[in-house]
Amino acid sequence: MITVALTGASGSMGSEALKQLLELDDLKLKILLRPKKSNLLLGKRLLKKYKNRLDVIFGDLSEYKDCELLIKDVDYVLHCGAIIPPKSDHQPSSTFNSNFGGTKNLVDAVLNSGRADEIKFVNIGTVALYGNRDYHHPWGRVGDPLMPSTYDIYAATKLKAERYVLEAGLPHFVSLRQTAILHKNMFMNNIKDGLMFHTCWNAPLDWVTDIDSGLLCKNLVKFDSEGTLKEGFWQKVYNIGSDDAGRCTGFDVFDDGFKLMGGSTKKFFKPNWNVIRNFHGMWFYDSDLLNSYLDYQKTDLNEYWKGLGKKLWYFKLGAIVPPQLISKFVIQRLFSNTNSPLYWRKIRHLGRLEAFFGPNETLETLPDKWDDFPLLSEGKTPEGDIDYNEVKTKEWASKHLLNHGYDETKPDNELDISDMRQAAEFRGGKCLSSTMTKGDLYTKLEWECHDGHRFMATPYTILKAGHWCPECCQPLPWHWGELSQHIPFFAQVYWDTHDKSETGTYPISNDEDDFISEE
Ligand SMILES: [Zn+2]
Repeated sequence: MITVALTGASGSMGSEALKQLLELDDLKLKILLRPKKSNLLLGKRLLKKYKNRLDVIFGDLSEYKDCELLIKDVDYVLHCGAIIPPKSDHQPSSTFNSNFGGTKNLVDAVLNSGRADEIKFVNIGTVALYGNRDYHHPWGRVGDPLMPSTYDIYAATKLKAERYVLEAGLPHFVSLRQTAILHKNMFMNNIKDGLMFHTCWNAPLDWVTDIDSGLLCKNLVKFDSEGTLKEGFWQKVYNIGSDDAGRCTGFDVFDDGFKLMGGSTKKFFKPNWNVIRNFHGMWFYDSDLLNSYLDYQKTDLNEYWKGLGKKLWYFKLGAIVPPQLISKFVIQRLFSNTNSPLYWRKIRHLGRLEAFFGPNETLETLPDKWDDFPLLSEGKTPEGDIDYNEVKTKEWASKHLLNHGYDETKPDNELDISDMRQAAEFRGGKCLSSTMTKGDLYTKLEWECHDGHRFMATPYTILKAGHWCPECCQPLPWHWGELSQHIPFFAQVYWDTHDKSETGTYPISNDEDDFISEE
């Protein structure tokens, strides 16, 4: 009998993981749910359905003893649980306690269990760690710089959490950075908050479905427990992404959804309602690597959209309600939400306006007609026309990948201290350790950043996973522009969407109070 501890079972990925894991014979699941009303009902329903195969613990990730109870006697920890946007934008303290504190609690509980050698730890990370991308570098991979977008509390807490997992010395861990998940509640969740306006029309996006994400969890446990998981899987970071069909732009995603209503993005939105940068998302150059281990990329996205169109009542609205009315009552009513750019303009929140639009009142000068707005998916950029279909090919991508600052053609077992020095220099700092065992990527070395902070970290965490200084390269504060002046590794992508004059620190102070409200 295999026992799996699962967090986030009420979420879009966790709920699919639960369902699909329980399709396996000889498997028992332990889940942790926060004791709120909807979860009490969910727990009751699940216990009725799965009876003695499921153990429901009501508690909180931020409580160590709850995590200890959850991981007791388990073989795997699947950590999907997190407070995600938009909730994380409004509740920063509880997001930190849950996302970082909760991950730390789970890892510590495994380390203290006396069974750390046996328990396998799967951390679900996020594409949001990479921060903003545009047409200059739409493709990315594990090892690229980690620069969460300014004011993205969720990504900041997940960055710190992933580093903790990587550096804990667990013999069996992986961190799987999840891209955006297409799921049945996506539209409903999105039309409740100004977060809807945070998707850049030209952001490169990669989608996987909730079904494929659940399959990934099931196959991981299945293949590993039956001994068919390929060698070399553990102690790594991977991107969870789609095959070619899932790669699109922010505009396309809205358009696919609105088409189901018989409309289009251009009918429901104006171009200047959404932000133009400081989002996250990219096309994963390396998601086929994880698929080669876990064989999860199965769902046809077009079919999935069609299925949603048939299943969900509000997609039928378009047939009876004129687009202007849908736009007015579904979308424009969110203009006054505290997470909406027009609200920031109203209260003159200069930090947010600059972070999401750029300096000098860019929002005021954005075109409000689609004909005047260059859309990447139509092959248009502010610098002129490009061949969008060519940009989407892996061949084009291979010529536009970011530099990781060391000789990547060397096999891992050949990497030595000279590679560490080279990588540190590209990060504006130094590798202080004078020696290392050639090829040993998991013994910690000492490093120093440009600002003199000294820290210990494994070669894997730095060279392969893209982390750097735990003091200055982790928000808060948000100051990637300042850092990019000293760190070429960051500079190669940060200036794609920022002016060289943007080297300050973004404010987060008393004027945040009206925006951030704790529960
Ligand atoms: Zn530093």
